[in-house]
Amino acid sequence: MTSLPKNTERKLGLVIDLDVCVGCHACSVNCKEWNTSGYHGPLTDTNPYGEEPSGVWFNRVHSYELEHTNGQAQTIYFPKSCLHCEDAPCVTVCPTGASYKRHEDGIVLVDEDLCIGCKLCSWACPYGAREYDSHEGVMKKCTLCIDKIYNENLPEESRQPACVSTCPANARHFGDLGDPESELSKKVRERGGFDLMPEQKTQPINKYLPPRTRQMKPELIQKTELEDASPEGGFLGWIDQILGN
Ligand code: SF4
Ligand code: SF4
Repeated sequence: MTSLPKNTERKLGLVIDLDVCVGCHACSVNCKEWNTSGYHGPLTDTNPYGEEPSGVWFNRVHSYELEHTNGQAQTIYFPKSCLHCEDAPCVTVCPTGASYKRHEDGIVLVDEDLCIGCKLCSWACPYGAREYDSHEGVMKKCTLCIDKIYNENLPEESRQPACVSTCPANARHFGDLGDPESELSKKVRERGGFDLMPEQKTQPINKYLPPRTRQMKPELIQKTELEDASPEGGFLGWIDQILGN
């Protein structure tokens, strides 16, 4: 079994704003693109154009529909990747030391040369954030783009995880959550940022900012009148007739 550092010098992580995520999946796609061409080598794709495509993805976006007490419905898009937990069970369960947490920045990584593909870490992770690569027989996971955030060949503003750089809605933020004065920590305090599944006691570094309830007044919702599509009807009726010929 593998030990965790007693503390880390920094706590690098992500803050994801569920209020503005539009569920476009750009973060997932750019994550796959960056890691396929960089640190991890190709991330497996199985049956990509078939009926049941599958493969290795470090970041996935889930969708949920909520119904508020006032009857209004709201769709929530929920991106999820490794949360770089402080008390990471995926590390302590690892029999070879392949899974480890870095003392200098708190990032949780896998040393693929030491990984024997036993999958214990994926069973231990309560968030389903580990990805087994069946082609290479090793476990893979989000690295917070260590080959990008420390890459001195890149301009300073580009040294961010691929998912953060690409997000068109500015829903993803990256920084040191161990520094209470960082912009990120302030944002978490101001917006009531929360841990995912705190009952698991994993102490995730990544935080989520909650979605706000939309205050849509019923009288502001305009009803769209549907056009008559019968053969005698207007434009749609005419289209229907043409297509029916
Ligand atoms: Fe480990 Fe899962 Fe926590 Fe990531 S989210 S550090 S894989 S337990
Ligand atoms: Fe949400 Fe941004 Fe990811 Fe799009 S890129 S799904 S907006 S977090």
